[in-house]
Amino acid sequence: MAKHYDLISIGAGSGGLSAAEMGAKHGAKCAVIEKSKVGGTCVNVGCVPKKVMWYGASIAHALEDASGYGFDITRNNFDWKKLVEGRQKYIKGINDWYGTYLKDSDIDMIQGHARFVDKNTLEVNGEQFTADHIVIAPGGTPVVPDTPGAEHGITSDGFFELDHLPKRVAVVGAGYIAVELAGLLNALGSEVSLLIRREHVLDNFDAMLRETLMEEMIDHGINILTNTSLTEITKESDGTLTLHHADQKLTGFDCLIWATGRRPLTDDLNLEAAGLDTDDKGFIQVDQYENTIMPGIYAIGDVTGKAALTPVAIAAGRRLARRLFNKEANLKLDYDNIATVVFSHPPIGTVGLSEDEARKTHGDAVKVYQTRFTAMYHALTDGETKTAMKLVTVGAKEKIVGCHIIGTGADEMLQGFAVAIKMGATKADFDNTVAIHPTSSEELVTMK
Ligand code: FAD
Ligand code: NDP
Repeated sequence: MAKHYDLISIGAGSGGLSAAEMGAKHGAKCAVIEKSKVGGTCVNVGCVPKKVMWYGASIAHALEDASGYGFDITRNNFDWKKLVEGRQKYIKGINDWYGTYLKDSDIDMIQGHARFVDKNTLEVNGEQFTADHIVIAPGGTPVVPDTPGAEHGITSDGFFELDHLPKRVAVVGAGYIAVELAGLLNALGSEVSLLIRREHVLDNFDAMLRETLMEEMIDHGINILTNTSLTEITKESDGTLTLHHADQKLTGFDCLIWATGRRPLTDDLNLEAAGLDTDDKGFIQVDQYENTIMPGIYAIGDVTGKAALTPVAIAAGRRLARRLFNKEANLKLDYDNIATVVFSHPPIGTVGLSEDEARKTHGDAVKVYQTRFTAMYHALTDGETKTAMKLVTVGAKEKIVGCHIIGTGADEMLQGFAVAIKMGATKADFDNTVAIHPTSSEELVTMK
């Protein structure tokens, strides 16, 4: 007989784990089904290993800055293997911790690929499991374009498997992953070309962020090729890659990284057996309570096509489980004003509407405050990184609807401001907050 649960999550990533964890906390008998490693994308091939590499890259920048502060330091060898070994050991620690934590929380971990048998039943390795509530949280996987020779490239998954620092890398794409990987590889010592098919990176972001980031990347030595769409990739007899674009050939690359988006992992779930379908991009449509069209089946995280961020998947999973098992019938995640950080060099912190979006919705009621300066840290360094900030306000009360920061520290600066903006802060509220000096963030409460 099939083992029965109150709730089963498909996927032990950010979303699936959080729903099971919160369900168990409220007394539900829960299981997670995982075909790969516990922790999902974020822990294994996403946020966590990326952030470790970003820290490494930030240290490389700090080494360049050290002489201005009187340190007699030369940058000698960089040991990629040591960094990667340390990173993987750290991740293994998280995987192991989850194993123990799930046991201690009385959550069953079922290893294998889940497919629907019917709306309450899942099959894993020939064994069946039933549940009153099933949470679909399988996340996504990188997309590779169908360009001839595309197989010579790798994706972010392959990046995390590299056993050496590539000498000459082409990164294709203009989103989060493209700018993050280009920035960290450049800092660690690769010669990096970033190939983008438009004029700019980070298409949906405020123009100030896009423009400042591109200036900084170029200043750091990244070769940005705009309006570039590859037509073919060929591998030469010396093992290097030649990238074909229009009538040009870009030669001598030892690594090509496709950072061209991700697609949801819904093609092998047998959704039709549960009476479910996807949209034309493979996403599962849900209402604001994360309900699919089938009662008792929910979807959260990247598979829904909503903001593809770890804290979003976690917040949606937790709220869903509280709604189901803690009698909080109206609880749901509010997807407005979700703060996000791009771990570029320098990092970007952004929340709310870009200036363009605000003007489209609110027209002349929009007033913008912005500043651009060199952070004090760079007073003594050879190279300097610009910091730029923008507050987008609306109406006579100047309610803040967007806050955009690029510069050293932006990653850690934003969270507190995001709380204020979520609470409906106005420009006057910011002005009434006494600054902390000397910091970069004080500029956000002193802008004229
Ligand atoms: P996932 O975390 O992807 O988990 C899904 C799990 O389901 C996986 O473990 C998968 O193996 C499993 N699975 C899939 N199908 C099945 C099946 N049929 N049966 C059993 N198991 C299955 N977000 C941030 O907020 N900050 C960051 O800094 C950040 N950096 C990122 C860097 C990279 C390189 C990438 C790729 C992503 C990054 N993200 C970041 C995004 C973040 O990782 C995702 O938004 C988040 O992991 C989504 O959680 P999820 O639960 O929807 O899916
Ligand atoms: P994004 O959706 O951010 O970007 C995809 C990029 O691929 C776009 O810039 C797009 O270009 C480009 N692209 C698509 N097809 C092609 C093509 N054929 N040729 C050239 N370029 C192409 O996806 P990512 O894969 O970077 O990241 C996925 C998601 O994961 C992010 O949206 C984010 O939600 C999350 N993430 C979050 C991070 C964080 O929080 N720091 C870090 C990494 C990922 P164009 O703009 O021209 O359309």
